Amino acid sequence: MDEPTAQNWEERDRSHLIHPFLPADRKDRVVIVSGEGCRLTDARGRSYLDATAGMWLCQVGHGRREIAEAAADQLRRLEYSTVFWDFTHDRAIALAERLVRLGGVPGRRVLFTGGGSEGVEVALRMARGYHHRRGAADRTWILTRSAAYHGAGYASGELSDFPAYTTGFGPHPGQVHRLSAPYPYALGQPPERVTDLLLQELEAAIAEIGAHRIAALIGEPVLALGGMVAPPPDYWPRVAQALRRHGILLILDEVVTAFGRTGAWYAADRMGVRPDLTVLSKGLTSGYFPLGAVLADEAIAGVLDSHEGFPAGHTYSGHPTGCAVALANLDIIEREGLLAAADRAGALLGEGLGGLRELPRVGEVRQYGLMAAVEIVQGHGRREPLPEGTYALADRIRDRTGVLVRGGPRALTLAPPLVISDAEVAEAVAGVREVLTETRT
Ligand code: PMP
Repeated sequence: MDEPTAQNWEERDRSHLIHPFLPADRKDRVVIVSGEGCRLTDARGRSYLDATAGMWLCQVGHGRREIAEAAADQLRRLEYSTVFWDFTHDRAIALAERLVRLGGVPGRRVLFTGGGSEGVEVALRMARGYHHRRGAADRTWILTRSAAYHGAGYASGELSDFPAYTTGFGPHPGQVHRLSAPYPYALGQPPERVTDLLLQELEAAIAEIGAHRIAALIGEPVLALGGMVAPPPDYWPRVAQALRRHGILLILDEVVTAFGRTGAWYAADRMGVRPDLTVLSKGLTSGYFPLGAVLADEAIAGVLDSHEGFPAGHTYSGHPTGCAVALANLDIIEREGLLAAADRAGALLGEGLGGLRELPRVGEVRQYGLMAAVEIVQGHGRREPLPEGTYALADRIRDRTGVLVRGGPRALTLAPPLVISDAEVAEAVAGVREVLTETRT
């Protein structure tokens, strides 16, 4: 049989797949067929520099044979076992141990999930379940923040600040209160004022709703989809302190930020904050297998698995192949010193993108670890974001230069694999520069 042509794949895709966020009149498709390091290749043979690490998840780069082998070994030995009831398996145990050890903070336990949204749903259930079992059944409200993304489920979608998930399609779970995010540029405030202002806002919201009705606050240590925004250094420690005073739990969504993305295993450690619950996914397996996890402080885990046990189980929680892949992935991050590499590459990327600041469409350049963003504004001295977001700009960068960056509501974002070379960092910066330079204001 003849090999299918690129055109043939594209036609078959159009007939058979539903693509999220792709309007019907967009006919083009990029059919990715292979990857190696920071490069992806499509069915037409075109090569791309992947400055998005897939969906910000591929820490160790594409095409790592040792991970493929770890997956194949596991599939041959044991393809599936549950971790419900008293069943467990060796790979889940080894990985849970490792996740607790990596943070250097003992006294946590792990519940595995199949991905990030599922992890957020489980963490919400844990937060409410914890209060409920301690006799505080009224603690049901969840505090979230603007520019947040926490997933695509009903509850995780509502916590996110993206109209596609929060408007239309009928009623939502509710009991969600949205606070401002520590995003100085969007707030139009100098960073040194932001924490004070947002703490006032937090205290006012707690007073209005009533601390006795609030279960938890959820937040990304660094806003990812919202535009790669790191908060001022005192933000998380002070927020955590305020929440503790009111008996409100802190859930950190580290789906993007963990496993080296910020130069540390967990961003929380770098930021000097101890959450009650941490949600993990993405970089846990570098995308070689879908897996997520929730790390729960022992004080919470102990209450949750008291007499009745904790009711949150997904068939694919702690899939043995996912766990084996995660262990092989963490081995690579450790062995190749990728936390330090991320910091170094991040600084280089921040410096390179910093050179774009003088362009009229660039409002701000941000970088924290290996997360970077170019805030795009209307230009002519106007600092408002483009009403249509930066999605079309990201497409143009891809089509013109072969560099994959991600568009968003306000910024172009870059978060390449942690193994990116200096030359590839320069290539990514040049791709963004080329298109932003030609863009008329
Ligand atoms: N939280 C954050 C911060 C994310 O960026 C994402 C996915 N981009 C999720 C949760 C949801 O994870 P998933 O897509 O695996 O369900």
